[in-house]
Amino acid sequence: MNFYLKFIHNNNGDYMKTNSIWTSNISLGKTNKLTKDIELDVLIIGGGITGLSTAYHLMNKNLKVALVERNKIGMGITSRSTAKITFLQENIYSKLKKNYDEEISRMYLNSQIEAINTIKDIIKNNKIDCDFNKVDSYLFTNDQEKIKDVKDEKKLLEKFSIKTKEVTELPDKEKIKYGFSVSNTYVFHPIKYLISLKNILIKNNVDVYEDSKVLKIDRENNNFICLTDKATIKAKKVIITTHYPYFLFPFMMPLKCSLEKSYIGVERVFKDYGFSAINTSIPTKSIRYHKDNDKIYKINLINSHNIAIKNNERENFKELLNNNYEYIWSNHDIITNDNLAFIGEIEKDFMIGTGYNTWGMTNSTIAGKILSDIVLNKENKYIKLFNPKRGLNLSKVLKFPIILSSNIKSFVGSKVNKNKSWYKNVVFKKINGNNVGIYIDEDSNKHIIYNKCPHLGCSLVFNEVEKTWDCPCHGSRFDISGKVITGPSNYDISFKEE
Ligand SMILES: Cc1cc2nc3c(=O)[nH]c(=O)nc-3n(C[C@H](O)[C@H](O)[C@H](O)COP(=O)(O)OP(=O)(O)OC[C@H]3O[C@@H](n4cnc5c(N)ncnc54)[C@H](O)[C@@H]3O)c2cc1C
Repeated sequence: MNFYLKFIHNNNGDYMKTNSIWTSNISLGKTNKLTKDIELDVLIIGGGITGLSTAYHLMNKNLKVALVERNKIGMGITSRSTAKITFLQENIYSKLKKNYDEEISRMYLNSQIEAINTIKDIIKNNKIDCDFNKVDSYLFTNDQEKIKDVKDEKKLLEKFSIKTKEVTELPDKEKIKYGFSVSNTYVFHPIKYLISLKNILIKNNVDVYEDSKVLKIDRENNNFICLTDKATIKAKKVIITTHYPYFLFPFMMPLKCSLEKSYIGVERVFKDYGFSAINTSIPTKSIRYHKDNDKIYKINLINSHNIAIKNNERENFKELLNNNYEYIWSNHDIITNDNLAFIGEIEKDFMIGTGYNTWGMTNSTIAGKILSDIVLNKENKYIKLFNPKRGLNLSKVLKFPIILSSNIKSFVGSKVNKNKSWYKNVVFKKINGNNVGIYIDEDSNKHIIYNKCPHLGCSLVFNEVEKTWDCPCHGSRFDISGKVITGPSNYDISFKEE
């Protein structure tokens, strides 16, 4: 399955790995599959940072809790993150002030600081070795027209009692037009963190099942009956932490958010400058450093776009392929209409945590706290802020037609984008009335898939760099055999020729 240990030649003929740096040289530990029916107080579906953070706060609470993951723990969106733990998140505070008001903006900041402190406590209390390092965070721009935005963000943070420092160059001496830094922010290795959390959960009587997919959820009286591929789970409460949620009709997720895709390249460097940075301009640029024993890496995110546009992946990866990176990969995250995550109850005893606007390390951590507090019937001051059933406000109403047209554009676009000249080793055709896509590998083996996303029927794009079939509508990804790697699709698209 999936993204492990794949390679591509860059334009100089050198090998580059097309998996994320976090999945290299990592031991995922023993896998426990769900093969027998079980009864639970709480079922958590999804073993990314949200699921594990939620389970952490539910251990040792006299509840029977289990977490079920379709693949391996941490191998979803979390494994392809840049994993900065920071409250400096582009100009989110100005956006929230505009979408709502200053109080909501301040409250969001408090939630992010609380999340950082929670991660710090979890790491300290459990002595987790996950390359957790304190680094200053920078927000900058090289675009004259964006300087005001950066200055406004700085002013707002100062109003919220955050100390900032104005700069015209980054610590590695890169000149910038304008920027500022804040302290008390961090970076870590997300998979080392999650594997440690998995082991802590298991030791504390939370069952963790991997390679076990939840396929269906039905409500029966006061219980949920959840079918997995091998067994049935009866649970009093269900928490969905699957990133883009599959089980949420009629939550109308496609109308409440869009998806942003980004491209990352990791290079070996000689010095760890110990900072992280992000700009406000286009193309998006984000930097952090990572030290792995004696090796130092600079992690560069070099551009981002709405998933519905720019589907030629060779073109999207062009800048990365023209350089000597050791790792390159892409990833996408959910951008909500009002820049706040969806965390909380959708129906009684049925909860979600998702929609982190590319800031999922902190938002998933606060989600873990909120969701567990709801289960435990405890007060939490952020329940209202992230309420997934929150009503429409003006900004969301204004964005509604844009999101709707983007959904229609991506669906129609997915149907007409086939057979484009950018594909080198891909053929689209009909077999027995089915639209299929065929990838022909270096050894001339043919890999055939149904070219229709099981989520909402969009046609797929072949990503020739990472060797995946990607849905340009809502982000489902499949490997060349058709096995689903990333949702919302919950189903494979493997095709067997008669
Ligand atoms: C390019 C990029 C860079 C980023 N960098 C940062 C950063 O620096 N800092 C930051 O704070 N955030 C960052 N983020 C955001 C962050 O990575 C995500 O928001 C976060 O990892 C999402 O975690 P999750 O647990 O919700 O999802 P996931 O990690 O995807 O976990 C969901 C899990 O659910 C499982 N699942 C799905 N369906 C089922 C099913 N039916 N049954 C069982 N299991 C199922 C999946 O296999 C998956 O493992 C970045 C995002 C992107 C795209």
